[in-house]
Amino acid sequence: MTPFSYVRAGDTAEALRLGAGGAAAYLGGGTNLVDLMRETVARPDMLVDVTGLADSIEETEGGGLLIGAAVRNTALAEHRAVKVRYPLLTRAILSGASAQIRNMATVGGNLLQRTRCTYFYDTDGSRCNKRAPGAGCDAIEGFNRNHAILGASPLCVATHPSDMCVALVALDASVHLQGRRGARTLPFGELHRLPVDHPERDTVLEPGDLITAVELPPLPFAKTSTYRKVRDRASYAFALVSVAAALQMRGERIEDVRIALGGVAHKPWRAFKAEAALRDGPATEAAFRAAAIAELTDAHPLRDNRFKVELATRTLIAVLRDLSGAAA
Ligand SMILES: Cc1cc2nc3c(=O)[nH]c(=O)nc-3n(C[C@H](O)[C@H](O)[C@H](O)COP(=O)(O)OP(=O)(O)OC[C@H]3O[C@@H](n4cnc5c(N)ncnc54)[C@H](O)[C@@H]3O)c2cc1C
Repeated sequence: MTPFSYVRAGDTAEALRLGAGGAAAYLGGGTNLVDLMRETVARPDMLVDVTGLADSIEETEGGGLLIGAAVRNTALAEHRAVKVRYPLLTRAILSGASAQIRNMATVGGNLLQRTRCTYFYDTDGSRCNKRAPGAGCDAIEGFNRNHAILGASPLCVATHPSDMCVALVALDASVHLQGRRGARTLPFGELHRLPVDHPERDTVLEPGDLITAVELPPLPFAKTSTYRKVRDRASYAFALVSVAAALQMRGERIEDVRIALGGVAHKPWRAFKAEAALRDGPATEAAFRAAAIAELTDAHPLRDNRFKVELATRTLIAVLRDLSGAAA
């Protein structure tokens, strides 16, 4: 591990002042960043601990929730308003990591955790364009069972690892930021990037940007929502494929729907094509399959992950079947 200094920020202004300089990094629960530092993938010279900043969950005037970036994952999952109004978010968080890690991990840190591509972590033997731009990518011809089937580039096939983020993109959340350009708000779907020709950049954030909060808009029909994660083990494993969805029915027809997929792309994948195919149509098995096919028709699986296309299709159909039954 490279030597570094540690400072606990007393307020946002202090965090921004300290975080803007040199190779400083903000520290949430440290459950990802410290691992990356141990592996020398990340080498900050200063850690600015931001866990003492915004850690409350408040009602917004519009009927949504404002979640401070320092709120721990467990506290968010267990919050009564989240459990009742946004159950897909509770389920997504509780499907991730372990209880101990969720107790430590913060909302801000969860959003910015880095890929679990093993080639990214293997600093001794593997080429990785995300870790060392221009080095090459050993995953493309290597063991790529866990990698992306949508939106990848010839430079990077890594997937985004967070479960929480899949729920947040389905909910049309927004991210509150502070940085050199002052305060700004981003639609959640614009926070994470596809790799294109800069796989080293996971997000559109600029150096020194601090996440201060995540805002959930009101979405009454999200009370009929869920998150299903398919993985190799029942716990302590990242998603092979996951689906976050919320459904509103009118009689036998689908009035509105939100869908996002995890484990399939470099960012949490909002399934706009599947949503469009379903909206104002019948809630039938055939319609669910057609929607899944509409979304996954652009998939480009790799040698070891062809199964993800069928797995995502079946998982989406199963989730829609359950939700339409519950909504009816
Ligand atoms: C064994 C294991 C299994 C796991 N399984 C899962 C899983 O199944 N699903 C899942 O979703 N996750 C999983 N995780 C990942 C875990 O959820 C993340 O490590 C955690 O959410 C990161 O939060 P943190 O607060 O600890 O972030 P940190 O490690 O402190 O920080 C992560 C990144 O965020 C930055 N950062 C932190 N706060 C801010 C802020 N306010 N503004 C700007 N930047 C900030 C840091 O600089 C760093 O780059 C697993 C982790 C481990 C170790």
